[in-house]
Amino acid sequence: MTVQSAPALVIAPPPAATLPVRGTTARFPVHRIYCVGRNYAAHAVEMGHDPDKEPPFFFMKSPTNLLTDGADMPWPPGTEDVHHEVELVVALGQGGRDIPVAEALGHVWGYGVGLDMTRRDLQAGLKKAGRPWEVAKAFEASAPCGEIVPAAEIGHPDRGAIRLHVGGALRQEGDLDQMIWKVPEIISYLSALFVLQPGDLIMTGTPSGVGGVKPGDVMEAEIEGIGRLRTAVTA
Ligand code: MN
Repeated sequence: MTVQSAPALVIAPPPAATLPVRGTTARFPVHRIYCVGRNYAAHAVEMGHDPDKEPPFFFMKSPTNLLTDGADMPWPPGTEDVHHEVELVVALGQGGRDIPVAEALGHVWGYGVGLDMTRRDLQAGLKKAGRPWEVAKAFEASAPCGEIVPAAEIGHPDRGAIRLHVGGALRQEGDLDQMIWKVPEIISYLSALFVLQPGDLIMTGTPSGVGGVKPGDVMEAEIEGIGRLRTAVTA
């Protein structure tokens, strides 16, 4: 019997993307990052859209965009307007396809606090031209994320304050119960379009109050019952 060994690689393998987990040195390995657009009515309105419940829409960031363990966010190139979007991050422990809403939370391993950093000036141009959003959304260090907190410890929060301070001033404030599409609905909807995998993250949209940061700013995000995230923007 031959033992299968991993094939030799022609270049060094890229490092695996992982997130810290509260209460352990073990880490959460990340597969994909799905992001929900316009999932709080007040944010939809501030971006000039109708807050009515339309089907959700999605974009992705790359796992390599994660900024973890309290690292600073370097100012990204090609932009003069980088916006913060504080979001609940859902971390899947089980994948699947066509997951019923009623079973969806059973696929969640934990939750975290994240920032969907956005090159808003570039996004505005892409929107106008009907082009894809990756250049605005999926750049280096565009996904600061805090510790993942196990659902086994905190359950599945469907309410709780979500806030972002910049330089000590309150910028964004909302409540998880204001989400247009709830976490189980998002998981179910995504699972009809993609084969979800253990390690997938879902960034679930941002409340109103998005705005720009500048080098030297410190962003402090928090979600009641889940945790905090502190990220400094550097030149
Ligand atoms: Mn967002």
